[in-house]
This record gives sequence, C-alpha cells and structure tokens, in this order.
Amino acid sequence: MLTSHQSAAASPRRARSVAVALNQAGAPKHEPSFSELAGAKLPSFSKPFRVYATLKEQVLAGTLPPGTKINERALGAQLGVSRTPLREALNRLAHERLVRLSPYEGYTVAPLTRQDFVELCELRVILEPAVAALAARQASDEEIAALREATRTGGDAGEVLCSSFEQYLRRQAEFHLALAHAAHNERLEVLVMNAYDQQQRILACAWGHGLELSSAHAEHGEIAEAVARHDAAEAAALMSAHVRRHEGRVLGALEHYFRANPAAQPEGSS
Ligand SMILES: [Zn+2]
Repeated sequence: MLTSHQSAAASPRRARSVAVALNQAGAPKHEPSFSELAGAKLPSFSKPFRVYATLKEQVLAGTLPPGTKINERALGAQLGVSRTPLREALNRLAHERLVRLSPYEGYTVAPLTRQDFVELCELRVILEPAVAALAARQASDEEIAALREATRTGGDAGEVLCSSFEQYLRRQAEFHLALAHAAHNERLEVLVMNAYDQQQRILACAWGHGLELSSAHAEHGEIAEAVARHDAAEAAALMSAHVRRHEGRVLGALEHYFRANPAAQPEGSS
C-alpha cells in the first residue's frame, strides 16, 4: 500500500492546469481557488493581485504552514514588494480566514484544528453525494471520459504514481472537479471547489505523516464507473462513503502531524 512516506516514480502524465476564471473586464471572477492558482499565469495580473495569489498558494500548499509567524520585512524582500501591496494581500487573506492579525504578534498563518477538517468533511458529505447523483444523471460521454481519465493512476497494477504532494493534490482535485463539472450546476461546482480548496492546507500537513493514498484512487474509480452506468443512487452512496473514509485517513495522519508540530494548533487546543 502506497503512503506518502514512500516515494514513487514520477507520473508521465501531467494534470490539466486550470486557469483563473476571469470576468469580461479581465479581472478574476471570484476569489481564486488553489486549483486555479496552480495553473495561473500570474504575470498578466496587477502586482497586488500577484502578491495575494502567490501568498495564498503558499498558505494552501503548506509552504507557509499553519501557525507560522509572518515576518513582513523578510516576506516583502522575498517577493520583491513594498509594505503596501503586502499588507493589502495579508488583509485579504485574513478576510478569507487563512491569516490572522493580532495586535501584539502581527500576522500569523491561521492555525489549524482537527475540528476545521471535521467541519469541512461534514460539508463535503452533504454536497458531494448530491453532486455525484446529478453527474450520474447528466454526464455526457465526454464528461464520463474526462472523469475516467482523472481516475487513471498512470501505473501498473493500480499503483498510484504521485511523486510529490502537488501531483497528489492535482490528481485528487482533478477527479472531484471533473465530477462537479459533470453535475451541470455552476453554483454547486463553485461550492465544491471552495470546500475542496479549504482542505488543501490540511492535506499539505497530513502529507508526510502517513497519509495513505491508494484507496482514495480506487474509490474514485468506483464512483466514475457508477456515473458511467448513470446509477445516481450508487454514485451518491459511494461518494458519501469515500468522503467518510477520506476523513478517517486524513485524521489519522493529522494526529501524527500535530504531535510533531504543536505550534500549528491554536494555543490551548492540543
Ligand atoms: Zn476523493
């Protein structure tokens, strides 16, 4: 069984990149998601937006881990920006609850709790079975093909070839977003993307602490086949079970992470 402790050969396949959704004026349509940022061509945006997008990606990918105290001077130098666009970006992230501002400590990457993840799973277990059922009813042949493509592991004998955390996240997101897209409901799609994004930094923490990957990919395959058979009840049941199992897998790894990184939790919660 492959876990994040083990390494694997790099996948020959590169996941599709997702562009930041733009409105007619060329500005981002909504707060960009992790999946969008991963594929974004940032130079085409204004400097304050680039600073915000870069920081957001670093927080969501765990490059700036939960509980990290932000040294504004060092960060500004690293990003090559002055205090004003940096503050603007940090305040925007504070508004999204990814960064915290305290009068004595300044900015800190928002700490993480077990409860944050449990709540996200509660949300996903409400949303995603409904999405899976809609997709089973409405997915076109092309969307089913895209869904199956997103479940391909790229290896022999069901091996999951994820050599890096980023690759793992992309594979995971690709499947869930392809399914949400096949549900033909833009509002649901945005909600799923948002819930999925919020868990990225939690997964980033769990990665490297025994997060087990193979079964999630196998479960994705089963859901894709239920959608391909247009079996809405089965697709919904499989998705519900998948989110619950995912919760158990991640919580197990998070326990190890919190033991190794007590500063990642808010004070008094450990
Ligand atoms: Zn999944």
